[in-house]
Amino acid sequence: MIVDYHMHLRDTEGGIVLSADTVEPFVERAAERGVDEIGFTEHVYYFEQTKGLWSLPYQLERCHFDLDEYVGAIEEAKRRGLPVKLGLEVDWTGERADELAAILAPYPFDFFLGSVHWIEGLAVDGNERCGAWHAWPEDEVWRRYVETLSAAAASGHFDVLSHPDLAKIFGVRGSDERYAELARGIDAAGIAFEISTAGLRKPVGEIYPDPRLLELSSAPITLASDSHEPRLVGEDYDAAIALAWANGRETVSVFDRRVRRQEPLG
Ligand SMILES: [Zn+2]
Ligand SMILES: [Zn+2]
Repeated sequence: MIVDYHMHLRDTEGGIVLSADTVEPFVERAAERGVDEIGFTEHVYYFEQTKGLWSLPYQLERCHFDLDEYVGAIEEAKRRGLPVKLGLEVDWTGERADELAAILAPYPFDFFLGSVHWIEGLAVDGNERCGAWHAWPEDEVWRRYVETLSAAAASGHFDVLSHPDLAKIFGVRGSDERYAELARGIDAAGIAFEISTAGLRKPVGEIYPDPRLLELSSAPITLASDSHEPRLVGEDYDAAIALAWANGRETVSVFDRRVRRQEPLG
């Protein structure tokens, strides 16, 4: 079984059109590349139902789509018999996480990705001259990133951690100690993480995560492209699958209504 459990529902021009017709080209690309099932994981801060949670201009500028329309588009695609899952990429909101979870609870989600893109309102993956990298020394960014992602993992609100070492995006790699801390946090939480080929398209030019995390953690994995267009579904999957196999992952996590099962990988 091959899955791609991280993508954003965009049309070929990059626009957000929340309909089952927008899903179809993603499914076609998946079929071309031997991907059996895909999961849509739009950013949580795009939906007006969550508006009360956000404070950053980046989030508020985007927060005007209808979550019911998003869910309806994926559910309609399922009714058409397409091999799709309903997910969401959910930023960790710390002490307000329960409030956010209550907003999402009525919907039939198959899985939630847990993400950390900001620490105390400062972007880890934004322009490298501002945000977290401007505020703190490099290892302090890493320490805070690992601490925050571990808290997200431990919360129980998420099924999979997305791009679990996103902090390396600009090529500043974490120390062995930081990876060991992250592996302990993930394994204690009993959560899966994704092997994401998106990092190959970023300045670091490497898959997320570093092989050290796969060695140090025994967590189950999903596969992810983090595609923002149909063309990139299943992108660079030979490398992702080889990395999984090289680090003892013979199965992949599959989710239905937030219940995980393991299927043979490949
Ligand atoms: Zn992300
Ligand atoms: Zn994403």
